[in-house]
Amino acid sequence: MDLYEHQGKELFARAGIPVSEGRVATTPAEARRAAEELGGQVVVKAQVLVGGRGKAGGIKLADSPAEAEAHAAAILGMDIRGHVVRRLWIEKASDIAKEYYLSVTFDRGEKKPLLMLTTEGGVDIEEVAERSPDALARLHVDPLVGSQPWQGRWLVFTAGIDDPAEQKQITAIVDKLYHAFVDFDAMLCEVNPLIVTPEGEVKALDSKFTVDDNALYRHPDVAEMRDVEAADPQEQLAREKGVTYVKLDGEIGILGNGAGLVMATLDVIDQVGGRPANFCDLGGGGDAQGVVDALEVITSDEQVEAILFNIFGGITRCDEVGRGILAALGKMTIDLPIVVRLDGTNAEEGRRMLTEAAPSNLYVEDTMLSAAERVVSLR
Ligand code: GDP
Ligand code: MN
Repeated sequence: MDLYEHQGKELFARAGIPVSEGRVATTPAEARRAAEELGGQVVVKAQVLVGGRGKAGGIKLADSPAEAEAHAAAILGMDIRGHVVRRLWIEKASDIAKEYYLSVTFDRGEKKPLLMLTTEGGVDIEEVAERSPDALARLHVDPLVGSQPWQGRWLVFTAGIDDPAEQKQITAIVDKLYHAFVDFDAMLCEVNPLIVTPEGEVKALDSKFTVDDNALYRHPDVAEMRDVEAADPQEQLAREKGVTYVKLDGEIGILGNGAGLVMATLDVIDQVGGRPANFCDLGGGGDAQGVVDALEVITSDEQVEAILFNIFGGITRCDEVGRGILAALGKMTIDLPIVVRLDGTNAEEGRRMLTEAAPSNLYVEDTMLSAAERVVSLR
């Protein structure tokens, strides 16, 4: 789950990382009031779950409450790379002397968290990594040992930060960021830019914070931060129904039993010239209600033109799944063509059952490839 900048900063603040004071606003009038309360120059920041807001015109300095209101009116409703701005963060403006970059993320290859620090912040970090890889100080943390005081110092020296006051503050921030990463079960904590003010104060000017969905049960307060309106309507429905679903942008609705099988199905659809509309895993069981829920989510996507069931019967036998599919189709009406590939335990019985009892828009196939070809030709 990705957090908005202001939410990430709230978690930073709880972890003891310095941030500026600010307010959330959803209307120009609220932005004006926030600017009045904060006093002085403020920065009006679009809250969207995508980076590069500055370049897109979603971040503007305002010298007065009236100017904040005008910027808010211009930024609200703006489309930033497919994300419509519905929320703003009005923050006390900072004077910037230097822009650094600091992050903790997972290095899956090393199976360890990775700390990164560079003095070339503010810009795209991928660009820095490519243009001047030596400028990027990288250090893995052993998750069993945790972060050690020397690690922050090593990063600061390796990145070439030579001001003693900055060294001291950043070493402390590295340690706090690592603790925030662990304590909130994060996948990514990124501060870009980490600024130094003309007075020499270091603080987080931006936040990118991603929390592991699987750990949200341990953080009900963070789970509550989810902005349900920002999610795809299908993904929202899937979450409500407990269906494992990811929206994609093709026309073939997919459901299968087992994540690996569904991933393979996406590839096969692509191979025969189709485009999958989604990933949807029914899990192990083939009970009718599970199938109904999944079909409701898949067909709520208007782009879907045909549906492919890919079932491999292992512990769950094909005849059980066949019964589940029939029961589901008895409970709901679907006019789109449906292709079912059944294989594995009791496949023949399952197929016979479907062929005999199923509606005329349902086609049964034996192999994954023939089913993929069939569903693509039917759309
Ligand atoms: P991003 O473009 O989505 O990464 O948004 P950021 O929050 O990183 O802001 C982009 C840029 O706007 C920063 O790198 C700064 O140069 C500028 N900016 C943001 N906040 C302030 C501020 O308080 N004062 C000043 N002077 N510039 C700011
Ligand atoms: Mn940024």
